[in-house]
Amino acid sequence: MKAHDGMYIAGAWRPASTGDTIPVVNPADEEVIAHVPAGTAEDVDAAVRAARAALPAWSATPPAERAVKIGAVRDGLIARKDEIAATVTAELGAPLPFSEAVHAGVPIMVAGSYADLAATYPFEEKVGNSTVYAEPVGVVGAITPWNYPLHQIVAKVAPALAAGCTVVLKPAEDTPLTAQLFAEITHEAGLPAGVFNLVTGLGPVAGQALAGHDDVDLVSFTGSTAVGKQIGATAGAAVKRVALELGGKSANVILPSADLAKAVNVGVANVMANSGQTCSAWTRMLVHTSRYEEAVELARKAAAKYGDRIGPVVSAKQQARVRGYIERGVEEGARLVAGGPEAPREQGYFVSPTVFADVTPGMTIAQEEIFGPVLSLIRYEDEADAETIANGTVYGLAGAVWAGDDAEAVAFARRLQTGQVDINGGSFNPLAPFGGYKQSGVGRELGAHGLAEYLQTKSLQF
Ligand code: NAD
Repeated sequence: MKAHDGMYIAGAWRPASTGDTIPVVNPADEEVIAHVPAGTAEDVDAAVRAARAALPAWSATPPAERAVKIGAVRDGLIARKDEIAATVTAELGAPLPFSEAVHAGVPIMVAGSYADLAATYPFEEKVGNSTVYAEPVGVVGAITPWNYPLHQIVAKVAPALAAGCTVVLKPAEDTPLTAQLFAEITHEAGLPAGVFNLVTGLGPVAGQALAGHDDVDLVSFTGSTAVGKQIGATAGAAVKRVALELGGKSANVILPSADLAKAVNVGVANVMANSGQTCSAWTRMLVHTSRYEEAVELARKAAAKYGDRIGPVVSAKQQARVRGYIERGVEEGARLVAGGPEAPREQGYFVSPTVFADVTPGMTIAQEEIFGPVLSLIRYEDEADAETIANGTVYGLAGAVWAGDDAEAVAFARRLQTGQVDINGGSFNPLAPFGGYKQSGVGRELGAHGLAEYLQTKSLQF
């Protein structure tokens, strides 16, 4: 795969401060497919200076003109969607049809939504005797993970640009090629130099330098809770805005009146998609005791259908971590009904689609984010019990409720401590705010709520 050997700073590919590189590995065959530069604090500093220099002109650009540029980025994503899908498949391992539909498709929708929102958002409003202006926060440091590599970039960069902010992006070290492709697209779209900048590199080096940089006004981070806590503490100490999209352990609550086969099949598909590497995945399936064994059998059959069809997980490290959790589940007494800890192939970082029954709420696999194709079925006695179990983790990112009618499901969903709930299989909405309750994060992405994250208000009284 073609890779740039520099950083995209101030509108050009600049040599990195050192010759150190990071290998990019295809997780399906373990081949090194490229090397990208390992950025340092010096590279981050150059990128932040470029973003600061570009800020006055970009923030003063009328929103309608910013909307046109974001629209041009969206058009570039459309023009290069096949290349994007192939790149994500090469560095993340997702099967190509999934890369085409989701990894390339969703960012097009999200970029398009911000082209529309930049043109229509009320950046000025009257409140009594005041005029309230929504102004850009300033220079944004964006730190993104590898699991939805382009979506997570676009979900930060597009609203930041719509708000009038400038950006320095530090993408995940496992998936930097997608980020380089995105930088090319912003360049071709004619974004002014310095409005978007890219520094590839390791989290504890380049990521930490960006999160701690004095001249960054807002840090937007998606990734693990452990790193998120550290970034939140750094930002808090510097009195700096921070948005954190962290882990999840979402509950899929199937009420007794639900269409059980549909709820279980959609639930299994939700966990297996992207090889389980989805922060909002419904990794805990809660089933009433009266229908529990029926659900276990349906889940076993559904998981068996996946067989070899899911891709590998992203890296050897993630494979070891996921297999470790599966072993832990067996040790703690859960009943393995599909899959298991053995690697299904000799080559590539594959994990078998795995289903556990007889999982109790206190088990490690019911509490911690595994980030692999592993589903836990938990039994509940009544609605109060289901509510306690569903809300009984430190997380609260997403979830699902299934019932005979939407009103019954909605009544239960309102009792869940979580940022999103899909009712009877409701579909993804790129305009709905996405983000966590509790330790799943701080702040919201997507739609108008996602744009508001990058704004601060100024009130003028008359
Ligand atoms: P991570 O949190 O280590 O990495 C996410 C991003 O943060 C990457 O760009 C990384 O380079 C950067 N980073 C790492 N350490 C940093 C530091 N000290 N300062 C600043 N930036 C830093 O996540 P990971 O190791 O890639 O994955 C580990 C676990 O995180 C996964 O198993 C999963 O549970 C979780 N995860 C969650 C999401 C999500 O969308 N919520 C995404 C990816 C991973």
